[in-house]
Amino acid sequence: MSSGDGSPVDHLHYRQLGQTDLHVSIIGFGASPLGDVFEVIDQEEGKRAVHMAVDEGINFFDVSPYYGRTLAEERLGAALQGRRHKVILGTKCGRYGASKFDFSAERIAVGVDESLIRLRTDYVDLLQVHDLEFGDLQQIVDETIPAMRRLQTQGKARYIGITGYPLAALQQVASALPVDVILSYCHYNLLADDLETTLAPFASTRGIGLINASPLHMGVLTEQGAPKWHPAPPEIHEAARRAADFCRSQGLDISQIALRFCFEYPRVATTLVGMSTQSQVKNSLSALRQPIDPAITQQVRSILAPVLNRTWPSGRPENSTPTALASLRSSQPIASAD
Ligand code: NAD
Repeated sequence: MSSGDGSPVDHLHYRQLGQTDLHVSIIGFGASPLGDVFEVIDQEEGKRAVHMAVDEGINFFDVSPYYGRTLAEERLGAALQGRRHKVILGTKCGRYGASKFDFSAERIAVGVDESLIRLRTDYVDLLQVHDLEFGDLQQIVDETIPAMRRLQTQGKARYIGITGYPLAALQQVASALPVDVILSYCHYNLLADDLETTLAPFASTRGIGLINASPLHMGVLTEQGAPKWHPAPPEIHEAARRAADFCRSQGLDISQIALRFCFEYPRVATTLVGMSTQSQVKNSLSALRQPIDPAITQQVRSILAPVLNRTWPSGRPENSTPTALASLRSSQPIASAD
């Protein structure tokens, strides 16, 4: 099986992130679990997981001040001490709590300085707006992204990007003002594939790096199931249980099939897996190395087909309205760096 960029999907290889000079491993380390977002973790084991990932060649780490209200950044920064030069490090700005958002230029500038202290570094490779659909998109275009470009000029962030759940909002903002990278989550995995028809062609045409997050649909596609806060409607969880039961009956773990499915997708530079233990790092790598019988994957997809691409509301309602999105403009287009 080829990954589409010529490399077989049987080992960890690297892809250019859009037009940046960042070459990211096709498995990225999602650090939100380090902030006890899914469950309270063993901090020392989390550190060992980070070290194992680096040793195995996973070079892209994604975090945010929001994860565990700064805890994930603190823990990742500590774990990467002495290893920072080996990794590509991304964090975010604008979201600081479940309902705590501030996309103003002032807060973005202060937020980055705070993140750099916690991450024990003087720059991040990637700085992204965190969950833009919770903000005023016009402010994000007029104020937030220009502020991030200034931070880029100051050398605090090498590249900038946006993240969020509604694909149309991500696309409209990136159409109004160039960004280097877009991170989308829960739109390409066994439960969703609409990234392929919407954002992926757009990003490819514009030369924007695309990151796919949440290959396990934020824990739904696992044996233990999703955390209580998960926003998906019950029918998604029920279908995933049926799929997990089927996989078990075949002697397989649904998460391995789900990870493999994402790793084979060639139109994203990397897939971010949320990890906090060495066994999860090992499982991700083994999903890459061990092919799955396509007939099994097909059967799992059939079980999940009735809920494929079933979404949930996220952010301000107007940010999902086509007319409001279409009115988004940049008053002062700013050229993308590099
Ligand atoms: P995910 O789909 O990666 O699922 C994570 C859950 O699966 C955790 O409970 C983890 O313990 C468990 N898990 C991981 N590996 C496993 C394995 N091999 N077997 C069984 N269970 C396993 O969801 P996620 O963590 O939300 O997404 C990955 C990362 O992407 C995040 O950590 C974060 O860095 C990033 N992300 C960013 C945004 C955003 O910027 N808006 C949104 C979502 C995710």
